[in-house]
Amino acid sequence: MTLPYAEPLIRREPQPRVIPEPLRVGEPGGDPCGLCSWLAGLDDTATTRDPADKPLWYDDDWALCRATGVTIPGVVWLTSRAHHDSFADLPDALARSYGPMVARVERAVLALGDIARVHVYRWGDGSAHFHVWFYPRPLGMLEAKREMLPLWADVLPEAPKEVVADAEDKIAAALAADS
Ligand SMILES: [Zn+2]
Repeated sequence: MTLPYAEPLIRREPQPRVIPEPLRVGEPGGDPCGLCSWLAGLDDTATTRDPADKPLWYDDDWALCRATGVTIPGVVWLTSRAHHDSFADLPDALARSYGPMVARVERAVLALGDIARVHVYRWGDGSAHFHVWFYPRPLGMLEAKREMLPLWADVLPEAPKEVVADAEDKIAAALAADS
């Protein structure tokens, strides 16, 4: 039993299918993409922007961003600077740089220490602007293996803001040093 809930759990029946599905933010015909607005003009305003309103790290193609309500310090997400939905429509050059970019983020998160594994999640069910999540599984937290980690992350208490910020600063520095 690795779920972050006590037994007995009662198995639910799947709900009736909702077709067509509601449009995601940033999908054609849906609400405008907030991520595009946030990333637009980043280079122009980089020096005047509140640091808290900037990605942790970015280049011309990618931006590494902080999460909110973090329970496991080191949780971050990577987004493309330009609006693409998924792997299926990433331009070839961006798709080619994705692997090395993910490797750099993984190394930067692992460097925090006491991390067994860095999980990489691409859900795609929220915003239609390409992004992937990085979740560090704390060393020794065997109950949070595999798909259990995001469930645990959802129910754990929020980590102290200064601890989260310290982890984010270290990831940003490690990423900048590993180019
Ligand atoms: Zn977008």
